[in-house]
Amino acid sequence: MTKTYMYRHRYVDVDIMATGILKMLMLHVMAEGEASGYDIMKKVESLSGKKPSTGSVYPLLKKMEREGWISGRTEDGKTFYRLTEVGREHVAQIKEARHGFIRNIYQSIALANETFDDAELHALMSDMHDLHRGFHPRDGEMMRSKKPLGPNSDLDAAEFERMERLKENPRGEFIQAIRDEDLARCLVKTAEIHGHFCPGSALGVMASAYGLNRLGLASIYSDGMENLMAVVEINACFADGVQAVSGCTLGNNALVYRDLGRLAVTFAIRGRDTGVRVRVLPDFRDKVAEAAPEFFPLLEKVIKDRAGDENDAAAFREAGRVAAFALIRLPFEELFAIEEVRPDLPDYAPIAESVICPGCGEMIMASKVVAEGEGRGRCFSCAGGEYRQVEGRGIVGRDRRKLTSPTGGRF
Ligand SMILES: [Zn+2]
Ligand SMILES: [Zn+2]
Repeated sequence: MTKTYMYRHRYVDVDIMATGILKMLMLHVMAEGEASGYDIMKKVESLSGKKPSTGSVYPLLKKMEREGWISGRTEDGKTFYRLTEVGREHVAQIKEARHGFIRNIYQSIALANETFDDAELHALMSDMHDLHRGFHPRDGEMMRSKKPLGPNSDLDAAEFERMERLKENPRGEFIQAIRDEDLARCLVKTAEIHGHFCPGSALGVMASAYGLNRLGLASIYSDGMENLMAVVEINACFADGVQAVSGCTLGNNALVYRDLGRLAVTFAIRGRDTGVRVRVLPDFRDKVAEAAPEFFPLLEKVIKDRAGDENDAAAFREAGRVAAFALIRLPFEELFAIEEVRPDLPDYAPIAESVICPGCGEMIMASKVVAEGEGRGRCFSCAGGEYRQVEGRGIVGRDRRKLTSPTGGRF
């Protein structure tokens, strides 16, 4: 019997023997070799612990034969079935589509958990969540968690689905938010990496949403493979708004940091002649002061002078939050100038070989080996002399010799 319930705007078939599991089990049995209808029923029973009826197995076999997935051969009045090439292809496709299948199972269990108040089901849901979060029961322990999920199970099922969607498309939520110009959502997601709300990151969020929407849809779907490039001209809070919303980051080499100290970012797509540069207009400070008058005085006290107590720090955080959420409600034109530019982009990041430095024994990118002089063939750290680093002041040269501590372990 098949029952169908309305669940989250989707129909979910809850009779699992009818959802395709029987079909899959049968295909699985035949993939291992030729089998009669009786053999198949026996094997399905041993695999699933449930005896399928002849009334479900034989019609399915006939259907699969009609589809060309299997072919039958009769001997001594018994028919033996085997997978055809088409059938093997189909099995391969099923394996490909397993994520959707697993999602359906999760949904079915979540639905059952909501429908029936059953301790066994609560425990199963709980196990599913633990597994999903990477908690595995210790060896020899029953796969049973003690905490029932109860009223939160609905929320958790939604979170499950969200995680599955993000696994398919990690930028999906940002893409939707940018397309909808849902800047509040972008700001919240940015703060997940930035750590706080502030006018700077809000401006970075806005500049990115503005620039990317101007550049066109292709830029929004960036997958961090250096097709879309961002050239950011400041290493401040602004840069995190850019990294989060555009997906161009230090790690994926789609972010270029140009050490100019200007509140501006250029977005460009490789292969196109033009990109867009978005810069913050100087009077943005007035808008911040208007939204949160205490922001700049507290900035002075808490950050610049490193004075102020816990209360000041809390008030500063709050002022930053107020200012950030006020800024994102303003029209882009009030805060930014945007212009088409001919971008000067570096080449794709080279894929460098790794070599072992004879000094420290660590693996280093071959392109970072010192080319000549006394330290030839060694990493910059071992060779001594100067190297560069990005820090609060921008890109600065650092002298390795000054850095060395007596223990030699400080980097
Ligand atoms: Zn910030
Ligand atoms: Zn070294």
